[in-house]
Amino acid sequence: MPLIPKSHPRAKSLLIREKLVNGFDNGLVAKEGLLAQGRGEAFDYLLGEKTGKAAKQAIKAAAAQLLLAEIPVISVNGNIAALCPKQIVRLSKQIKAKLEVNLFYTNKKRQQAIIRTLKKNGAREVLGTSLTSSTKLSGIDSARRIVDKNGIFAADVVVVPLEDGDRTLALRKAGKTVITFDLNPLSRTSQTANITIVDNVTRAIDLLIDESKKLSKKNRKTLQKIVNNFDNKKNLTENVIQIKNNLTRRARIA
Ligand code: ATP
Ligand code: MG
Repeated sequence: MPLIPKSHPRAKSLLIREKLVNGFDNGLVAKEGLLAQGRGEAFDYLLGEKTGKAAKQAIKAAAAQLLLAEIPVISVNGNIAALCPKQIVRLSKQIKAKLEVNLFYTNKKRQQAIIRTLKKNGAREVLGTSLTSSTKLSGIDSARRIVDKNGIFAADVVVVPLEDGDRTLALRKAGKTVITFDLNPLSRTSQTANITIVDNVTRAIDLLIDESKKLSKKNRKTLQKIVNNFDNKKNLTENVIQIKNNLTRRARIA
């Protein structure tokens, strides 16, 4: 494994890349997953590589929504398994959500590698591979339409980190409340989800775990008020403004 010196000005970003590359070498990440990371990185740069105010509000709304859920499910893909397997398992335990492996570029070997990684990191059960309990979401062509009857299909709230726009729309059409992490506030996923956390999943996931812990002491009425007061369109606009302000500042310095 190549060593990245801590003093390197882009050490954090390089370490994330290294996780993805290792994930690719270990059969977790698809080639396309590496490209998706690249698109995300570009937006992270524009956002200033930090969790902004708008993202913090979205995290709070997401935590409240997850605590209110009857059947919350977290959809896991290769990038998530490579970037933050421990945290995704921790989140699932904190909010009592099921984990389901769901891949855009489906592949049995990769599915198994992801399940192994999640189990190594403490997951008890991971859905998404049982042929007898698989069913299809309508309105979507890719392999990702296949979901577990007891998982995403039955869920009222689904967390889909780093999702594709088509599937987000299919989940919405199926009546699910969709929470996503997406660094690009302009993506179809960001625009279609109910709650979009515009932040790097590697930063935001710990904050979501902490917020869920904090809000778990609140009653349902308080949680519902937090969800009702959240406006995803407005939040996305605030993220675009954050990018604009960053660019304006940089343009002045240059
Ligand atoms: P859409 O289909 O929603 O319009 P897209 O086609 O631009 O999006 P996809 O490849 O389908 O992009 O999805 C990947 C998304 O995940 C991108 O929007 C990218 O910004 C985001 N992304 C990649 N890496 C991360 C990360 N580490 N944290 C948060 N978001 C990320
Ligand atoms: Mg896409």
